Amino acid sequence: MDLVLFGPPAAGKGTQAARLTDLLKVPQISTGDMMRTEKKSGSDLGQKFADYMEKGLLVPDEMVGELIKKRLGQDDAKNGAIFDGYPRTVAQAELLDSILTELGRKVDKVVSIEVSLETVVERISGRRTDPSTGQVYHLTYNPPPVDFGGELAQRKDDTPDVVRERYKGYENKTLPVLPYYEAKELVAAVDGVGSLDEVTERIKAAIGTS
Ligand code: AMP
Repeated sequence: MDLVLFGPPAAGKGTQAARLTDLLKVPQISTGDMMRTEKKSGSDLGQKFADYMEKGLLVPDEMVGELIKKRLGQDDAKNGAIFDGYPRTVAQAELLDSILTELGRKVDKVVSIEVSLETVVERISGRRTDPSTGQVYHLTYNPPPVDFGGELAQRKDDTPDVVRERYKGYENKTLPVLPYYEAKELVAAVDGVGSLDEVTERIKAAIGTS
């Protein structure tokens, strides 16, 4: 199955994608995670990604396209994927269609995780990551275990100014992706507010696996 998880920053796309991989037996493909990994490697390409990310701007479509083409060529993605944070523009959605068509596949479902701007701001301000594992927590709603001994980090692009910029990009460039998929009758909307389990169950119902 090729499933797109759609939604604003901090809608829960990454968290929910990770929870669905076992069930669907396909990998999570997060372009944001791939870019952060590239940045950590210290490569020039990683630095180019970071220049956009740290300003809250979308990375140009051609650069993201290279990443996604390479990733979809890997063995673990041969039966499908859960896309998290991709596509973020109509051009990216068109490219994804053409790559999947070449592979004899198509986007099977787009789940739009709906949360208000207020929720986005609240979630982002409390979001922290364990740098050693990449595990994402929220200080209030999903705190690390009581015996957690490490130090949590805040993403550089989770600061209020950068979040505002990211949300602008979402409204101007990413929201138009929804009508693109609506025209293909692929979209199911789910309420993104609730416990992690509740939202997972809603997504499972939306894709017909519960
Ligand atoms: P995320 O981890 O999905 O919130 O993405 C973090 C940042 O990475 C975004 O604000 C963008 O700067 C960049 N990014 C991730 N995915 C994409 C994409 N599909 N297109 C353009 N930029 C992206």
